[in-house]
Amino acid sequence: MVFADRAQIKVRSGKGGDGHVSFRREKYVPAGGPDGGDGGRGGDVIFEVDEGLNTLIEFRHIRKYKAQDGENGNKRNCRGKDGEDVVIRVPEGTVIREAESGKVITDMSGSNRRYVLLKGGRGGSGNQHYATSTMQAPQYAQPGRPAQELDLILELKVIADVGLVGFPNVGKSTFLARVTNARPKIANYPFTTLNPNLGVVDLDGEKGFVIADIPGLIEGASEGVGLGYEFLRHIERTKVMIHVVDAAGTEGRDPVADIYAINKELEAYNPEIARRPQVIAANKIDAIYDPESDAVERLRKEFEPKGIQVYPISAVSGQGVKELLYHVNEMLEEIHEEPTVFAQEYFPEQMIAPQEPFTVTYDSKAHEYVVEGPRIEKMLGYTNLDSEKGFNFFQNFLRENDILAQLEELGIQEGDTVRIYGWSFNYYK
Ligand code: GDP
Ligand code: MG
Repeated sequence: MVFADRAQIKVRSGKGGDGHVSFRREKYVPAGGPDGGDGGRGGDVIFEVDEGLNTLIEFRHIRKYKAQDGENGNKRNCRGKDGEDVVIRVPEGTVIREAESGKVITDMSGSNRRYVLLKGGRGGSGNQHYATSTMQAPQYAQPGRPAQELDLILELKVIADVGLVGFPNVGKSTFLARVTNARPKIANYPFTTLNPNLGVVDLDGEKGFVIADIPGLIEGASEGVGLGYEFLRHIERTKVMIHVVDAAGTEGRDPVADIYAINKELEAYNPEIARRPQVIAANKIDAIYDPESDAVERLRKEFEPKGIQVYPISAVSGQGVKELLYHVNEMLEEIHEEPTVFAQEYFPEQMIAPQEPFTVTYDSKAHEYVVEGPRIEKMLGYTNLDSEKGFNFFQNFLRENDILAQLEELGIQEGDTVRIYGWSFNYYK
């Protein structure tokens, strides 16, 4: 059973710093070579498990986490400083999902103590890298790679080993209060109002286990009636189920029929859950006044041949409770299971397209193809299109940045017009 404390946050990695355009200026050297430095790397968004935390409460107050941008490069080959990472500390067992799809990015459990969720943008290269034999004074430096942003849902899962099931008023809450009230450890677990009751059973000399009351498991729950479905979703990971029944029949219920009804629900929801080990808590034995209708005996005759033990208890007086708990503990010890770790379904590196520094579109009114964006503006700023050299550089720029490919994808034909910031030219291959 998994109970979750939830929070929604926004994270952003740092943008890479831009490369710089500059030239050496030395005494007696009129025109030095290019010495524009590279931009620094943007900071990463990193998650780390913090043993001291056990709630996601902090994330209710701070919802935005941003790594630092890389600094731009500078003259004299000065590399820009890298941006600082943002490190977000979470309790162990925090499952991180992409908010829109709900898909799991990572589960901060087990050996996963530190996870780089978003990489910072790479810094751009300075103009010193663009000098060639034909272009000795490059006016071009590479812009830094953009930042990445993602909305996340954090969910803290607390795995309950044991689930309490039963019809209303059979005494589930009373039982839970009895076995956990004396153990103040329950306060260590973070609950939200959505979460049903959950507590730690702390047995003398034993490891103890987490037990949860599943209210709202009613007939029809597997068809999604009422709250039932929501809660059934939570019992997927419990290892042992305790059926609580009213052995005194105080409300005229038949405990044998109740167990069949509940098991039918479990079966309909997920047959695998219905096959997990069960035990019966025949509750309210302090209130059995009619010796003729011995419900405990009937339960034993019906279910013990099926391998389901029956424990007569009184959640009110505490009679029989200890025996039941030790039995449950033994059942748990026989089950050797790796803790559940959620598998990755969402891969930020692949799924977030970096923000394009330019766009290529078709203006159907003017019958022109339009290329624009900050990167284009920048390029036009240092390129003289009237010179042949400049124009060649411009064409290379279009090719290397896949702009020509995108124009062709949009269906451009020879002779069509391409518009770039008030400047038009005809397209020829
Ligand atoms: P739940 O709906 O299954 O959570 O049931 P509750 O724990 O709320 O209990 C329903 C009613 O049964 C309450 O009035 C309890 O006081 C009563 N009850 C629970 N356990 C016992 C018990 O062992 N003996 C008696 N006599 N009454 C009980
Ligand atoms: Mg209750």
